[in-house]
This record gives sequence, structure tokens and C-alpha cells, in this order.
Amino acid sequence: MDLHLKDKVVVITGGGTGIGKAAAREFLREGARVWVLGRREEVLSQFAREAEAEGYVLGYESCDVTDRKAVEETADRILRETGRLDVWINNAGIAIDKPFLDFTDEDYERIISINQKAVFMGTQIAAERMKRQKSGVILNASSYCAKIPHANGVLYAATKAAVSNMTRSTAAALAPYGIRVCGYIPGMIVTPISESMIGQYKEQFIKDISLRRLGRPEDLAKPLVFLASDAAAYITGIDLEISGGKFAAQNCAMAWKLAEET
Ligand code: NDP
Repeated sequence: MDLHLKDKVVVITGGGTGIGKAAAREFLREGARVWVLGRREEVLSQFAREAEAEGYVLGYESCDVTDRKAVEETADRILRETGRLDVWINNAGIAIDKPFLDFTDEDYERIISINQKAVFMGTQIAAERMKRQKSGVILNASSYCAKIPHANGVLYAATKAAVSNMTRSTAAALAPYGIRVCGYIPGMIVTPISESMIGQYKEQFIKDISLRRLGRPEDLAKPLVFLASDAAAYITGIDLEISGGKFAAQNCAMAWKLAEET
């Protein structure tokens, strides 16, 4: 299936690692022109060298998504170079896990500004520019916590619930301009953000996943490319769950046990 992504301009925040990096690779394979943003220049430039060794040109910009001016300038630099902006992925995020009573006001401000306010700003910045060309796709990283929060990630869950809600409202608000907005819900994917949780609770996570394995960033890559493509032209305002069937049913592990016994 031709996804018609050749020469489309794709920007991925937090694209130097994890899910964003895997998605960037997949967009490059589809012939898109890809830029990844993040705070650590060395991480981004290392990825650009890896991409070059694989025969691709990857653009990157060191940029903090909480800095509206910096993100606007970055978007405009990319626009000047390419003349268009087709896909914007609000993927950057952080997690803070601790007992509820230990959270501080600083934790609150920090996680809200990266996980939630930056999605609002990124969406405005992308949509303002996409509106001129009357087309575009914006994707937002949500989380399973938006559906079922977890006890030690009270603030993280709140930000992701807000993102899922904003995905639906902005999908409606931006539809008249030819812009689609979708979210994605990664299950438990092995990346830097989830490392310490997985280290502590791996078996507990796996028992609730129907496919009985943790996810890899690559498991997200093709679904994100699909959502961004014309093949998904009639899809907007949804969260696509890519979780291996996490909590698809109570006692997912029981099906495996019964299957092994028969
Ligand atoms: P990573 O930690 O690999 O990716 C997070 C990225 O965000 C990093 O590249 C980081 O780069 C970037 N980032 C963080 N803060 C900022 C900032 N202020 N400005 C610019 N970039 C920033 O984790 P994942 O790939 O797993 O996470 C991607 C998204 O998926 C996140 O939104 C996460 O919440 C979500 N998610 C992940 C799940 C999982 O199981 N892995 C589950 C549910 C949701 P740098 O530090 O260099 O800025």
C-alpha cells in the first residue's frame, strides 16, 4: 500500500529516543523528510549519524518544547527550508513516579508544562502553519494512564488524560482547516521513560498484557505512520491503543495458562 508520504515533512518532538526515534526511522523509510526535536543535542546528532549510515538525511533541532518562542522559530526554520509542514507529533514527555504525598508543586509545574502545556503550544504552532496549506496531521502521545490511572503516577496520569481530551476537542476545532488530530496510547513499551518501572514490576505488567510481552518502540512505528498517512484520512479525534491488548480482559494470564494445559 502506498501511504503517499514521500517528501512529506514530519516533525517529531522527543524524536531522539524511544518511540519517537522508531517512528522517525519508519517515516524515513516511507520517503518522508523528517526532523526530530529534543533538548539533548548529542542524542539528536548521534541519531542523525545513524540515519546517515543507513542512507537517510535526518534533520534535527535542539529545542525545549516548553519554550514557545524556540518551538515557533524551529517550525519556521523547517518551513523556510521545505515550504511545508505535513505531520507534527507531540511525542516528548516525562514521567515522575512517587507516592502521592511526596509530590511537590515543582513536580506539578514541570510535568504539566512538558506533557500537557507543550502539547497545547505544539498543536497551536503546527496548526497555525498547516492552516495555510489547508492540510496536516497532528499526533499526540497519550498513555494508558488516561484510561486507568496508576497509583504512583498521579500527575503523569492527569496530564495524559488532559492530552486525550485535547486530542478530541482539537480534532473538532481544526477539522474545518483540513487538519486531523489523533492520539496514541502506548502500552508498556521498553524505553528510557519506563525503564525504572519495568525494572521493578516487569512480571506484574506482563500478566495484564494479552500478548504476554512488553512492547518495543518499533511496535508503535508503523501504526503512527499509518495514522499520519492518507490511508487514515477518515480517522480523527481518536486514541489508537498499541498495547498488546493490555487489560483487554480481566485475568489475561489465565488464557495462557489454560492454553498451556490443553
Ligand atoms: P523517551 O524517554 O525515550 O522519550 C521522551 C523524549 O522526550 C526524549 O527524547 C526527551 O529528549 C524528550 N523530551 C523530554 N522533555 C522534553 C522537553 N522539555 N523538550 C523537548 N524534548 C523533551 O520515552 P518514550 O519514547 O517511551 O516516550 C514517548 C512518549 O510516549 C511520551 O510522551 C510518553 O509519556 C509516552 N508514553 C510512553 C510509554 C512507554 O511505555 N514507554 C507509555 C505511555 C506513554 P530530551 O531529554 O533530550 O529532551
